Amino acid sequence: FHIFSAVYYGSSVNWKQFAQEGKMEIAFIGRSNVGKSSLTNSLCGNRKLAHVSREPGKTRTINYYDVQSRRTVDGTEERQSWFLVDLPGYGFAKTSGKNAEDWSSFIDDYIMNSPELALICLLIDSRHPDLDIDEKAYAWLGTSGVPVLVIGTKGDKLKASEKQQNRRKLASNYPSVYPPVIYSSLKGTGKGEVLHIIESIVCR
Ligand code: GDP
Repeated sequence: FHIFSAVYYGSSVNWKQFAQEGKMEIAFIGRSNVGKSSLTNSLCGNRKLAHVSREPGKTRTINYYDVQSRRTVDGTEERQSWFLVDLPGYGFAKTSGKNAEDWSSFIDDYIMNSPELALICLLIDSRHPDLDIDEKAYAWLGTSGVPVLVIGTKGDKLKASEKQQNRRKLASNYPSVYPPVIYSSLKGTGKGEVLHIIESIVCR
């Protein structure tokens, strides 16, 4: 299973805008600077897809990417078409106070009202598996009833022993039907595990 094409589709400030397309959606969310752009580019094999390290907290839109994936089953090729949905990052200074309220009601509208939303990938810096802000985001995302996959980012910054330990912490802090994945966009580790979970969702 792999993604062979991912193109920017459009940005929205309104969850209704693309809902009528009827395509399955997989959303990515996390603290600003957690490594979300790097991870989406790594997953899609496209370095230029999302902008890496733009000004933190600047993006206030929901960005849709039109993704084509394929796999071969018993010699027959199957293709899938779905949206990768990039949600704005939380926790940056500029998104505190009044801005934070705007941010959460905006995203809340999206996660609560998207019938095609099949998975929320919550990105957490694998070096910091127990930040309050991530725990709050996890609790709040859970109220949507959409399954959450926790991805620990920047895994290459951990020693092998820390990787095991932090993966266990992620699993106990953020329980889910999916075990957490430690990912490195730099090295591509974890990509197979995440694609495997996405495959199980977009191919069902
Ligand atoms: P975003 O704000 O969540 O989209 O984060 P970015 O993808 O822009 O990454 C923020 C910073 O972390 C950049 O300087 C990236 O180069 C760095 N970064 C992202 N992913 C990784 C990773 O897997 N390993 C390492 N070592 N650095 C990373």
